[in-house]
Amino acid sequence: MRCWYRRHARDLPWRRTSDPYKVWVSEIMLQQTTVSAVIPYYERWIEKFPDVGSVARASPAEILKAWQGLGYYQRARNVHKAAQIICECYGGTLPADKENLRRLPGFGAYTTGAVLSIAFQKAEPIIDANVRRVFMRLLLLDGKADGRHDGVISGELKRLLPARAPGDFNQALMELGATVCRSQLPLCSQCPVRNACQAYHKGVQEIIPEPKTKKLKDIYAAIAVIRHKGRFFIQRRPLSGLLAGLWEFPGGQIQEGETSRRALERELDEELGVAIQSAVPLMNVRHFYTQFRVHLSVWLCSARPIPKSDETHRWVRSREFSDYAMPSGSVKIVERLREGRACLTGGAGCVSE
Ligand code: SF4
Repeated sequence: MRCWYRRHARDLPWRRTSDPYKVWVSEIMLQQTTVSAVIPYYERWIEKFPDVGSVARASPAEILKAWQGLGYYQRARNVHKAAQIICECYGGTLPADKENLRRLPGFGAYTTGAVLSIAFQKAEPIIDANVRRVFMRLLLLDGKADGRHDGVISGELKRLLPARAPGDFNQALMELGATVCRSQLPLCSQCPVRNACQAYHKGVQEIIPEPKTKKLKDIYAAIAVIRHKGRFFIQRRPLSGLLAGLWEFPGGQIQEGETSRRALERELDEELGVAIQSAVPLMNVRHFYTQFRVHLSVWLCSARPIPKSDETHRWVRSREFSDYAMPSGSVKIVERLREGRACLTGGAGCVSE
């Protein structure tokens, strides 16, 4: 496996180092996110925060801004908290033992195993979605890839893990799952473990694991881009819950039987205590999250009284949007506003999808 890995491994920025901090950051970023999406974020992050100390010293806003667009923002908050603990308790160096790593925020079994094996060369098994799929096929384990077989897989991994370069072994398995033993159309003819694969011998590799049946929920929302004297109004989400601490345009979900315009009036009244003076449809934005698909009807508005700015509400110029970490749906609105610059300075209603 390791010979195969040395010949076929993709050249990824985090594979050029065994610095525990960089291994940790890359493993956190790669959770729920594709390699191609992570690469630019990882490179920018390491440039901005070259070590644990620089993360610990950063403000929460700087951390969220650097993570903006990667999603699952709790990961960023955990990296920040863990970096502060590492500086406070371990002199800025990640501890090299399981017990202390597991106590750090965001260090579950997977991250702990990845850091221990890849950065510290300890024989710790790790199971991600790729490893799980490979082993379900190798061992002919049926059902969905939902973790039900992880005990069996972990036992098998402990038996197989070599004492020398266990990190390479773990990475080889993950790479095999990502590039050869793919969830659809596995490339069995190129597989180095084909002879040992029970699913391959039975010809059932395409149906192991059972495919997921995932139905995305549709959410419809009305959003207000309130403009006043060349500035736009944004507000910060609560510091806990979904997209915590990010900045967004005001608005909310359209309730059953409501029009988008009516929802907008209700939301601005409930959230800000203001009434719409004028509202013109500006654009429609669609954005996918893991569990749902959001359809945003965006309106360019003026409101009375003028909403006040405070700790969690701000009036910002278009060029200042980049100072605020925003969820991807709001970033799309900002991008469209910038593309249709006439709306920022002139008449309403000039941007549409
Ligand atoms: Fe996966 Fe095919 Fe290799 Fe089996 S032979 S591990 S199904 S790629």
